[in-house]
Amino acid sequence: MAVSICRSSRDRALGRCFHCFPCLSDPARRSSLGLKGILVMLHFIYAGILFLFDSDLVDKTKKEPWYTALYLLLFFVTLVQYFITSSSSPGYVIDAMRAFNETNVIYRKSLVASKQSASSKNGSLDATVEGCQSGRNFQGSTSASWTKLVMDLYPPGTSIRTCICSYCNVEQLSLWILYALSTLHGMWLLLILFLAQLQPPRTKHCHDCDKCILQFDHHCVWLGTCIGQGNHCSFWWYICEESALCLWTATLYITYLKGNISRAWWKDAIMILLLIVLSISIIFLLLLLLFHSYLVMTNQTTYELVRRRRIPYLRGVPERVYPFSKGVCRNLYDFCCVGSSIYSLEPLPSAEELEEKSRPHTCLDVLTCRCC
Ligand SMILES: [Zn+2]
Ligand SMILES: [Zn+2]
Repeated sequence: MAVSICRSSRDRALGRCFHCFPCLSDPARRSSLGLKGILVMLHFIYAGILFLFDSDLVDKTKKEPWYTALYLLLFFVTLVQYFITSSSSPGYVIDAMRAFNETNVIYRKSLVASKQSASSKNGSLDATVEGCQSGRNFQGSTSASWTKLVMDLYPPGTSIRTCICSYCNVEQLSLWILYALSTLHGMWLLLILFLAQLQPPRTKHCHDCDKCILQFDHHCVWLGTCIGQGNHCSFWWYICEESALCLWTATLYITYLKGNISRAWWKDAIMILLLIVLSISIIFLLLLLLFHSYLVMTNQTTYELVRRRRIPYLRGVPERVYPFSKGVCRNLYDFCCVGSSIYSLEPLPSAEELEEKSRPHTCLDVLTCRCC
């Protein structure tokens, strides 16, 4: 009896909490918020304990305030970068599709308006009817143009069904019932084109986000978001800043422990324990930074590297051949400057391009900087 009363009062409290903060009602978002809170807290614990225990550092701050100011600047820049990355869009296919359609609508509307104004100057009323009809038919045609855009990125002869994300389309079940009810074959094809969320190459459905991600890299639990085309650059900068901050913090910890001032043993024990955890984090972060730098330079994603043999478009590609690489310089430029653009959809390389890439390097290639 007491247990049930306790449970119902807890449920009521949780219900009130979810009412005030609707984002907490989703368990996935709750765990992501929890991890974010832990990560931010760890940052403040490491910096706070350092300034609390290290009187030398406090004295140094008074003499050379720029040193501590630079450290604190890096501290806050890293946290800001963390929140920017976690709130940024990894490049959802649905957003790219919407943006593409909206651009097309604006373009088509301006085209219709210019046609109308041109015809009205000539005194023709037929243009208005024509304009209305083209406006009405546009919804179908934009869907078809997205389909065309995506299908053009695949080699000729690729089946449209292999490019449809079955998970995203499950959400549109009610519309699929409509499709099942339609008996005409032409209607079936029209509905497939209209409803299907076609995956451009290098796209993968993330089961945590429940969306298709352009150039899917991985789903980061610490950031609570996917890493993809839209935020890979931001993620790389975050790892870089975090590594620098951890290295600087570790240096300050070591300086404190090496000092000859007499202090309580428990202070040393806490500092050593924190330094061990920090050292493990630094090794992990530096390896992650190196790994992602390698991915950027070769234009690959973690998913493509790990699942190379399972991904259909990479199955026939020889080892040590990077099918999407355009040379180190161009890869870096694309990653930094155009990587977040939703329109930078990459086509699958043709057989000739793959053959050219798998050709062994010669001395002439070194001179002409083939890999750059
Ligand atoms: Zn999907
Ligand atoms: Zn995800």
